Amino acid sequence: MADLPNSIQEFVDGIAASVAIVGRDDSGRLIVPACNDLFFQMTGGRRLSACDFPAPFDTLLPNYARNEFRQKLLECFQAGTAQELEQAYDLRDGTHWWRMSLKPFRHIDAGATVVEILVTGLDITPKMQLTHDLEVSTSRFRSVVDAAYDAIITIDQQQNITLFNRAAENLFGYTSSEMLGKPIESLLPEKYRSHHAQYVHQFARSPVRSRQMDERNRVYGQHRDGTLLPVEIAISKINVDGLIEFTAVIRDITDRVRLMDLLQKQAVTDQLTGLPNRREFLEVAGNMLKADGELSVFILDIDFFKKINDSHGHDIGDEVLRALAKIAMSAGSKIDIFARWGGEEFVAAMPGTTLEQGKAIADGLRAKIERQDFSHNWRVKPIAFTVSIGVAARAPGERDLQAILKRADQALYRAKENGRNRVEAG
Ligand code: GH3
Ligand code: MG
Ligand code: MG
Repeated sequence: MADLPNSIQEFVDGIAASVAIVGRDDSGRLIVPACNDLFFQMTGGRRLSACDFPAPFDTLLPNYARNEFRQKLLECFQAGTAQELEQAYDLRDGTHWWRMSLKPFRHIDAGATVVEILVTGLDITPKMQLTHDLEVSTSRFRSVVDAAYDAIITIDQQQNITLFNRAAENLFGYTSSEMLGKPIESLLPEKYRSHHAQYVHQFARSPVRSRQMDERNRVYGQHRDGTLLPVEIAISKINVDGLIEFTAVIRDITDRVRLMDLLQKQAVTDQLTGLPNRREFLEVAGNMLKADGELSVFILDIDFFKKINDSHGHDIGDEVLRALAKIAMSAGSKIDIFARWGGEEFVAAMPGTTLEQGKAIADGLRAKIERQDFSHNWRVKPIAFTVSIGVAARAPGERDLQAILKRADQALYRAKENGRNRVEAG
């Protein structure tokens, strides 16, 4: 009996696990008849010599671990079935995690059946560290994803949504829980849905791992309420256990698109009158000449405009220009484009009209202005003014806009020469 702990001691010391045998003394207190070196290492306790066994269980464990361990042991004794326990021990070199299994076993001791518990523990610190690191990196990832300004959406191989961050919720008007597991198509405008899966497959097969989605065209998403969202999308893919996952970073470019549209409009618009400007006229009339068919143009110049400026002031002059723009815009549907050429000169193009017809339209406009046959909300007082107009028409098949405009300008010159407030054609 006396050398029993010793032989067990030698046996258990050879195992690469912490091992202890726990029994109960006559008064039911937990005692440890034997444990190996690793058990002392695990608990950080002082090593006992052979003669100190059996040792009271409590003396082998640090305070903070004792109760939980004892609880498990008592459960094990009571239930007679194996139990598991994970505990952290704070040692000088840091925290160590151990997973212990508690197994009751029976043996005969001095003719009596004794139940004791075999405790074996494995150091799971490296695994716990890994789990911990993973948790940290996962929560870091989540917080970055959720704080992101851009919408971030991931989809799996079946193109169902697996991640939908906060910015995505804001952009599309759905909650993450509504969208998880749903097909990505539900975020696209109807007309793009049928082709989308094919694009994803193409991207899955391409050697490129990340790229801008459709660099040539505008890309749109669809908000929950049906409105189109102009967006810019960067997509990337990763291989997870042989399956390809896709991530899309989506930026709402509504403001940028609006600004671009505005800039585009400004580039072709005259600021004072809101009419198309010279550049726009040349573009539009140039396009008209690409097709065959009749086309007449005119150049209009306000008579004695300098006098209006001189006697009423520049602001009133501006107001006259605005009034003229308004009259011309409502002059008739035959005038396809009426633009400000510069200063107090304007140009118009009338596709489908001959020189005679163009002249009649121009004269109608001239007469209307002369008669002051229009309503305009004059900021100060109404100003009477007249205009002179030169009309020209394309020769059959003629494509040279400059040449046609030159003829119109010469006609305008004649109109001025012949007394103003007139239309000349040629
Ligand atoms: P004509 O009958 O021969 O055309 O005489 P005119 O005085 O109209 O012609 P002229 O070309 O000598 O004068 C044009 C004037 O238009 C000169 C310029 O100060 C004025 N002008 C040009 N652009 C603007 C503008 O944006 N606002 C105002 N108020 N005046 C302008
Ligand atoms: Mg002029
Ligand atoms: Mg003038």
